[in-house]
Amino acid sequence: MTTTLLVLGSANADLVVEVGRRPAGGETVLGGDTVVLPGGKGANTAVAAARVGASVSLVGALGGDGYGSLLRESLESSGVGVELVKTSSRPTGIAYITVTPDGENSIVVSPGANTDVSASDVDALSFDGVQVLTCSLEVPLETVVHAIDAAAAAGVRTVLNLSPVAELPADTLARLTVLIVNEHEAAQLAPTWQDLLKLGPKAAIVTLGSRGVAVVAQAGTVEVPAVEVDEVVDTTGAGDAFAGALSARLAAGDTLPNAARYAVKVAALSVTKSGAQPSYPTEAEVSALG
Ligand code: ADP
Repeated sequence: MTTTLLVLGSANADLVVEVGRRPAGGETVLGGDTVVLPGGKGANTAVAAARVGASVSLVGALGGDGYGSLLRESLESSGVGVELVKTSSRPTGIAYITVTPDGENSIVVSPGANTDVSASDVDALSFDGVQVLTCSLEVPLETVVHAIDAAAAAGVRTVLNLSPVAELPADTLARLTVLIVNEHEAAQLAPTWQDLLKLGPKAAIVTLGSRGVAVVAQAGTVEVPAVEVDEVVDTTGAGDAFAGALSARLAAGDTLPNAARYAVKVAALSVTKSGAQPSYPTEAEVSALG
Protein backbone atom coordinates (compact mmCIF):
# COMPACT_ATOMS: atom_id res chain seq x y z
CA MET A 1 0.00 0.00 0.00
CA THR A 2 1.31 3.49 -0.80
CA THR A 3 2.15 5.49 2.29
CA THR A 4 -0.15 8.51 2.39
CA LEU A 5 0.89 9.75 5.85
CA LEU A 6 4.41 10.27 7.17
CA VAL A 7 4.89 10.91 10.90
CA LEU A 8 8.27 12.31 11.94
CA GLY A 9 9.00 12.04 15.64
CA SER A 10 10.22 10.12 18.65
CA ALA A 11 9.88 6.53 19.76
CA ASN A 12 10.66 5.70 23.38
CA ALA A 13 10.39 2.77 25.73
CA ASP A 14 8.40 3.96 28.76
CA LEU A 15 9.70 2.18 31.88
CA VAL A 16 7.03 2.66 34.52
CA VAL A 17 7.37 1.81 38.21
CA GLU A 18 4.99 2.51 41.10
CA VAL A 19 6.59 3.88 44.27
CA GLY A 20 5.11 4.71 47.69
CA ARG A 21 6.92 8.03 47.60
CA ARG A 22 9.64 9.70 45.57
CA PRO A 23 13.25 9.19 46.83
CA ALA A 24 15.11 12.28 48.03
CA GLY A 25 18.69 12.91 46.86
CA GLY A 26 20.99 10.09 47.97
CA GLU A 27 18.05 7.90 49.04
CA THR A 28 16.86 4.55 47.67
CA VAL A 29 13.22 3.41 47.75
CA LEU A 30 11.79 0.12 46.58
CA GLY A 31 9.15 0.16 43.85
CA GLY A 32 6.81 -2.33 42.20
CA ASP A 33 7.58 -4.39 39.09
CA THR A 34 8.76 -2.44 36.06
CA VAL A 35 6.21 -2.19 33.25
CA VAL A 36 7.63 -1.54 29.77
CA LEU A 37 5.29 0.32 27.42
CA PRO A 38 5.83 1.61 23.88
CA GLY A 39 5.78 5.43 23.85
CA GLY A 40 7.23 8.61 22.36
CA LYS A 41 5.08 11.27 20.71
CA GLY A 42 5.97 10.24 17.15
CA ALA A 43 5.30 6.54 17.67
CA ASN A 44 2.06 7.30 19.55
CA THR A 45 0.83 9.54 16.74
CA ALA A 46 1.69 6.99 14.05
CA VAL A 47 -0.01 4.15 15.95
CA ALA A 48 -3.18 6.21 16.50
CA ALA A 49 -3.31 6.90 12.74
CA ALA A 50 -2.66 3.27 11.77
CA ARG A 51 -5.40 1.96 14.11
CA VAL A 52 -7.99 4.06 12.31
CA GLY A 53 -6.85 2.81 8.92
CA ALA A 54 -4.18 5.20 7.68
CA SER A 55 -1.34 3.92 5.54
CA VAL A 56 1.35 5.49 7.72
CA SER A 57 5.12 5.24 8.13
CA LEU A 58 7.18 6.59 11.01
CA VAL A 59 10.36 8.55 10.29
CA GLY A 60 12.55 8.12 13.37
CA ALA A 61 15.40 6.24 15.03
CA LEU A 62 15.82 3.39 17.49
CA GLY A 63 18.91 1.89 19.09
CA GLY A 64 20.25 -1.52 18.06
CA ASP A 65 19.31 -2.83 21.53
CA GLY A 66 16.52 -4.92 23.02
CA TYR A 67 14.18 -1.96 23.53
CA GLY A 68 14.73 -0.99 19.90
CA SER A 69 13.63 -4.45 18.69
CA LEU A 70 10.66 -4.39 21.04
CA LEU A 71 9.49 -1.00 19.78
CA ARG A 72 10.05 -1.91 16.12
CA GLU A 73 7.91 -5.06 16.56
CA SER A 74 5.27 -3.15 18.47
CA LEU A 75 5.02 -0.49 15.72
CA GLU A 76 4.79 -3.18 13.04
CA SER A 77 2.11 -5.10 14.89
CA SER A 78 0.08 -1.89 15.11
CA GLY A 79 0.32 -1.52 11.32
CA VAL A 80 2.89 1.30 11.21
CA GLY A 81 5.49 1.13 8.42
CA VAL A 82 8.99 0.98 9.96
CA GLU A 83 11.12 1.10 6.80
CA LEU A 84 12.02 4.74 7.58
CA VAL A 85 12.95 4.04 11.22
CA LYS A 86 16.73 3.80 11.21
CA THR A 87 18.90 1.91 13.66
CA SER A 88 21.20 4.36 15.42
CA SER A 89 24.49 3.71 17.22
CA ARG A 90 22.94 5.44 20.25
CA PRO A 91 20.64 3.63 22.69
CA THR A 92 16.88 3.60 22.19
CA GLY A 93 15.12 6.58 23.80
CA ILE A 94 13.80 5.76 27.26
CA ALA A 95 11.36 7.55 29.56
CA TYR A 96 11.89 6.58 33.21
CA ILE A 97 8.52 7.13 34.87
CA THR A 98 7.78 6.83 38.59
CA VAL A 99 4.16 6.96 39.67
CA THR A 100 3.15 7.78 43.26
CA PRO A 101 -0.16 6.68 44.87
CA ASP A 102 -1.69 10.12 44.18
CA GLY A 103 -1.31 9.28 40.47
CA GLU A 104 1.39 11.88 39.87
CA ASN A 105 4.19 11.02 37.40
CA SER A 106 7.84 12.07 37.61
CA ILE A 107 9.62 11.50 34.32
CA VAL A 108 13.24 11.50 33.19
CA VAL A 109 13.60 11.22 29.41
CA SER A 110 16.82 9.92 27.88
CA PRO A 111 16.29 10.81 24.19
CA GLY A 112 19.18 8.65 22.90
CA ALA A 113 18.57 7.59 19.29
CA ASN A 114 15.83 10.22 18.82
CA THR A 115 18.52 12.92 18.74
CA ASP A 116 19.98 11.18 15.67
CA VAL A 117 16.98 11.84 13.40
CA SER A 118 18.63 14.20 10.95
CA ALA A 119 18.19 16.45 7.92
CA SER A 120 19.88 13.80 5.76
CA ASP A 121 17.12 11.32 6.78
CA VAL A 122 14.64 13.90 5.49
CA ASP A 123 16.62 14.33 2.25
CA ALA A 124 16.35 10.57 1.68
CA LEU A 125 12.52 10.65 1.87
CA SER A 126 10.30 10.26 -1.15
CA PHE A 127 7.09 12.26 -0.94
CA ASP A 128 5.53 10.32 -3.85
CA GLY A 129 1.91 9.60 -2.97
CA VAL A 130 2.28 11.24 0.46
CA GLN A 131 -0.67 13.49 1.33
CA VAL A 132 0.32 14.67 4.81
CA LEU A 133 3.49 14.98 6.90
CA THR A 134 2.91 15.23 10.66
CA CYS A 135 5.72 16.24 13.03
CA SER A 136 6.12 16.49 16.78
CA LEU A 137 9.00 17.81 18.78
CA GLU A 138 10.99 15.15 20.64
CA VAL A 139 13.48 14.99 17.75
CA PRO A 140 15.92 17.79 16.78
CA LEU A 141 14.16 21.03 15.89
CA GLU A 142 16.32 21.62 12.80
CA THR A 143 15.20 18.22 11.43
CA VAL A 144 11.54 19.15 11.96
CA VAL A 145 12.08 22.51 10.25
CA HIS A 146 13.83 20.84 7.30
CA ALA A 147 11.06 18.23 6.99
CA ILE A 148 8.27 20.83 6.96
CA ASP A 149 10.13 22.89 4.36
CA ALA A 150 10.81 19.82 2.17
CA ALA A 151 7.25 18.51 2.41
CA ALA A 152 5.73 21.89 1.60
CA ALA A 153 8.08 22.23 -1.42
CA ALA A 154 6.78 18.83 -2.63
CA GLY A 155 3.16 20.02 -2.29
CA VAL A 156 2.48 17.85 0.78
CA ARG A 157 0.24 19.24 3.56
CA THR A 158 2.01 19.66 6.89
CA VAL A 159 0.79 19.25 10.47
CA LEU A 160 2.89 20.22 13.49
CA ASN A 161 2.07 19.29 17.08
CA LEU A 162 4.14 22.04 18.75
CA SER A 163 4.56 20.30 22.07
CA PRO A 164 6.63 21.38 23.93
CA VAL A 165 6.67 24.90 22.52
CA ALA A 166 9.81 25.77 20.53
CA GLU A 167 10.74 28.65 18.29
CA LEU A 168 10.48 27.91 14.56
CA PRO A 169 11.54 30.19 11.69
CA ALA A 170 8.66 32.39 10.46
CA ASP A 171 8.88 31.05 6.90
CA THR A 172 8.56 27.45 8.17
CA LEU A 173 5.50 28.37 10.28
CA ALA A 174 4.04 29.95 7.15
CA ARG A 175 4.38 26.59 5.36
CA LEU A 176 2.22 24.78 7.93
CA THR A 177 -1.23 23.59 7.00
CA VAL A 178 -2.25 22.93 10.62
CA LEU A 179 -0.59 23.89 13.90
CA ILE A 180 -1.79 21.81 16.89
CA VAL A 181 -1.23 23.06 20.44
CA ASN A 182 -2.92 22.57 23.79
CA GLU A 183 -4.43 25.48 25.75
CA HIS A 184 -1.25 26.17 27.73
CA GLU A 185 0.95 26.10 24.65
CA ALA A 186 -1.51 28.37 22.79
CA ALA A 187 -1.31 30.92 25.64
CA GLN A 188 2.50 30.87 25.42
CA LEU A 189 2.39 31.53 21.68
CA ALA A 190 -0.28 34.19 21.15
CA PRO A 191 -2.71 36.41 23.09
CA THR A 192 -5.80 34.90 21.41
CA TRP A 193 -6.50 31.70 19.48
CA GLN A 194 -7.20 33.67 16.31
CA ASP A 195 -3.76 35.32 16.71
CA LEU A 196 -2.13 31.89 16.30
CA LEU A 197 -2.74 32.35 12.57
CA LYS A 198 -0.56 35.48 12.61
CA LEU A 199 2.37 33.13 13.30
CA GLY A 200 1.84 31.74 9.79
CA PRO A 201 -0.14 28.46 9.68
CA LYS A 202 -3.23 28.21 7.45
CA ALA A 203 -5.19 26.84 10.40
CA ALA A 204 -4.65 25.99 14.05
CA ILE A 205 -6.23 23.56 16.49
CA VAL A 206 -6.22 24.20 20.21
CA THR A 207 -6.92 21.07 22.27
CA LEU A 208 -8.94 21.81 25.41
CA GLY A 209 -8.80 18.57 27.40
CA SER A 210 -12.27 17.41 28.47
CA ARG A 211 -13.79 20.40 26.62
CA GLY A 212 -12.69 19.20 23.16
CA VAL A 213 -10.92 21.36 20.60
CA ALA A 214 -11.12 24.76 18.90
CA VAL A 215 -10.54 24.78 15.13
CA VAL A 216 -9.12 28.18 14.19
CA ALA A 217 -9.27 29.28 10.54
CA GLN A 218 -9.24 32.65 8.74
CA ALA A 219 -13.05 32.54 8.59
CA GLY A 220 -13.26 32.20 12.40
CA THR A 221 -13.07 29.70 15.23
CA VAL A 222 -15.34 26.67 15.54
CA GLU A 223 -15.40 24.70 18.79
CA VAL A 224 -15.81 20.93 18.56
CA PRO A 225 -16.92 19.60 21.96
CA ALA A 226 -15.30 16.48 23.40
CA VAL A 227 -17.23 13.23 23.34
CA GLU A 228 -18.37 12.50 26.89
CA VAL A 229 -17.04 9.27 28.36
CA ASP A 230 -18.37 7.26 31.33
CA GLU A 231 -15.04 6.99 33.11
CA VAL A 232 -11.73 8.77 32.54
CA VAL A 233 -9.04 6.15 33.26
CA ASP A 234 -5.83 7.68 31.86
CA THR A 235 -5.36 10.78 29.69
CA THR A 236 -1.72 9.91 28.81
CA GLY A 237 -1.24 10.23 25.07
CA ALA A 238 -4.68 11.75 24.38
CA GLY A 239 -3.09 14.66 22.52
CA ASP A 240 -1.07 12.26 20.36
CA ALA A 241 -4.21 10.18 19.67
CA PHE A 242 -5.94 13.35 18.50
CA ALA A 243 -3.01 14.40 16.27
CA GLY A 244 -2.69 10.91 14.75
CA ALA A 245 -6.39 10.52 14.00
CA LEU A 246 -6.67 14.07 12.63
CA SER A 247 -3.71 13.42 10.30
CA ALA A 248 -5.20 10.10 9.19
CA ARG A 249 -8.47 11.76 8.20
CA LEU A 250 -6.74 14.70 6.49
CA ALA A 251 -4.64 12.22 4.48
CA ALA A 252 -7.89 10.45 3.51
CA GLY A 253 -9.31 13.73 2.16
CA ASP A 254 -11.54 15.01 4.99
CA THR A 255 -11.95 18.75 5.58
CA LEU A 256 -10.27 20.06 8.75
CA PRO A 257 -13.52 20.41 10.78
CA ASN A 258 -14.64 16.89 9.81
CA ALA A 259 -11.21 15.46 10.60
CA ALA A 260 -11.36 17.22 14.00
CA ARG A 261 -14.85 15.78 14.71
CA TYR A 262 -13.50 12.28 14.02
CA ALA A 263 -10.31 12.84 16.04
CA VAL A 264 -12.16 13.97 19.20
CA LYS A 265 -13.92 10.58 19.17
CA VAL A 266 -10.57 8.77 18.95
CA ALA A 267 -9.08 10.93 21.73
CA ALA A 268 -12.15 10.34 23.96
CA LEU A 269 -11.92 6.57 23.54
CA SER A 270 -8.19 6.75 24.34
CA VAL A 271 -8.84 8.23 27.82
CA THR A 272 -11.10 5.30 28.77
CA LYS A 273 -8.15 2.85 28.88
CA SER A 274 -4.74 3.01 30.52
CA GLY A 275 -1.51 3.74 28.65
CA ALA A 276 -1.03 5.61 25.40
CA GLN A 277 -0.71 3.25 22.43
CA PRO A 278 -2.59 0.33 24.05
CA SER A 279 -5.56 2.68 24.57
CA TYR A 280 -5.95 3.76 20.94
CA PRO A 281 -9.17 2.58 19.26
CA THR A 282 -9.66 0.90 15.90
CA GLU A 283 -11.81 2.33 13.12
CA ALA A 284 -14.59 -0.11 14.09
CA GLU A 285 -14.58 1.09 17.70
CA VAL A 286 -14.80 4.70 16.53
CA SER A 287 -17.71 3.89 14.18
CA ALA A 288 -19.52 2.13 17.04
CA LEU A 289 -19.61 5.50 18.85
CA GLY A 290 -21.93 6.79 16.11
P1 ADP B 1 -2.60 17.18 25.81
O1 ADP B 1 -2.67 15.82 26.46
O2 ADP B 1 -1.72 17.20 24.60
O3 ADP B 1 -2.37 18.32 26.75
P2 ADP B 1 -5.49 17.59 25.88
O4 ADP B 1 -5.46 17.35 27.35
O5 ADP B 1 -6.05 18.87 25.40
O6 ADP B 1 -4.05 17.41 25.19
O7 ADP B 1 -6.27 16.36 25.24
C1 ADP B 1 -6.31 16.12 23.86
C2 ADP B 1 -7.70 15.78 23.41
O8 ADP B 1 -8.11 14.56 24.07
C3 ADP B 1 -8.76 16.79 23.78
O9 ADP B 1 -8.83 17.83 22.83
C4 ADP B 1 -10.03 15.94 23.81
O10 ADP B 1 -10.54 15.79 22.51
C5 ADP B 1 -9.51 14.59 24.31
N1 ADP B 1 -9.73 14.47 25.78
C6 ADP B 1 -8.86 14.77 26.77
N2 ADP B 1 -9.41 14.58 27.99
C7 ADP B 1 -10.67 14.12 27.76
C8 ADP B 1 -11.78 13.73 28.59
N3 ADP B 1 -11.70 13.77 29.91
N4 ADP B 1 -12.92 13.33 27.98
C9 ADP B 1 -13.03 13.27 26.63
N5 ADP B 1 -12.03 13.64 25.79
C10 ADP B 1 -10.87 14.06 26.34
